[in-house]
Amino acid sequence: MSILTINTVGIVGAGIMGNGIAQTCAAAGLHVVMVDISDEAVAKGLATIAGSLDRMIKKDKITAADKSAILARIRGSTQYEDFKAVQLVIEAATENYALKVKIVQQLDALLAPEVLIASNTSSISITKLAAVTQRPDRCIGMHFFNPVPLMALVEIIRGLQTSDATHEAVHAMAIALGKTPITVKNGPGFVVNRILMPMVNEALFVLAEGVATPEDIDAGMTLGCNQPLGPLALADMIGLDVCLAVMEVFLNEFGDSKYRPCPLLKELVAAGRLGRKTGQGVYTY
Ligand code: NAD
Repeated sequence: MSILTINTVGIVGAGIMGNGIAQTCAAAGLHVVMVDISDEAVAKGLATIAGSLDRMIKKDKITAADKSAILARIRGSTQYEDFKAVQLVIEAATENYALKVKIVQQLDALLAPEVLIASNTSSISITKLAAVTQRPDRCIGMHFFNPVPLMALVEIIRGLQTSDATHEAVHAMAIALGKTPITVKNGPGFVVNRILMPMVNEALFVLAEGVATPEDIDAGMTLGCNQPLGPLALADMIGLDVCLAVMEVFLNEFGDSKYRPCPLLKELVAAGRLGRKTGQGVYTY
């Protein structure tokens, strides 16, 4: 299947990532069917897209006519049956293994055999998700970054079973969306989180050992490595609970002690200091 044949995309989930992916696909001229479990969730997703497009109008990036045309290409629904005209479904539902298995099995039973199934999962094995379908060669990971309309990267994750044709179609589509794809073999954390999270964890070890203050650690990495945000400020933004959960997955999956979560990270999470979202993490907000 070539990119020319992907003109209609189904999206499962109208949350942060689902509505961002829907907006990005529609802005690139694709028709989109975005499905969530309730009318409220669908309406919220569509309203978020409208708000995002309004901000782009204010910045003179698009016109009001562009906004209408983009919205007209997105259809909201609560029924997977509305995916009947799509050539690709991108699953962006809640991060839960049992839920994603159920969703890909439902899609597999419903969709024509040639339709591709992609997942935007951050941590679940694409090989395992593909294995529960009758089309493992047509399953793949498409890991977008938040906020989707602004972030350039898409990690394209090949499960062990993913065919070259599936990879080529999805890779070409990511480029057509205006993104820069990188191709990644299935494995915990893929590329970006595999490198990012141990760095964040190491910054917490450096802090716990009293090597430097939080401000100086972050200044070291912003000024010395040109990172836009220091690793400790970044950890507070991501959520320390999320950072801990990712390190625990790495430790379990690789069985290598180099991935052990920093005890200070565990302490902060145990105290409910999860970062920006709770007003306190490494820093106080
Ligand atoms: P979210 O909670 O904002 O949205 C998830 C949506 O899925 C909700 O609206 C929920 O109602 C819906 N949903 C649940 N079960 C469903 C079902 N059976 N059918 C249809 N919709 C269903 O979550 P999110 O942040 O958008 O994350 C979605 C996926 O993207 C997760 O796999 C996550 O790991 C991944 N991801 C998230 C980020 C991020 O920064 N938030 C970045 C990259 C990848």
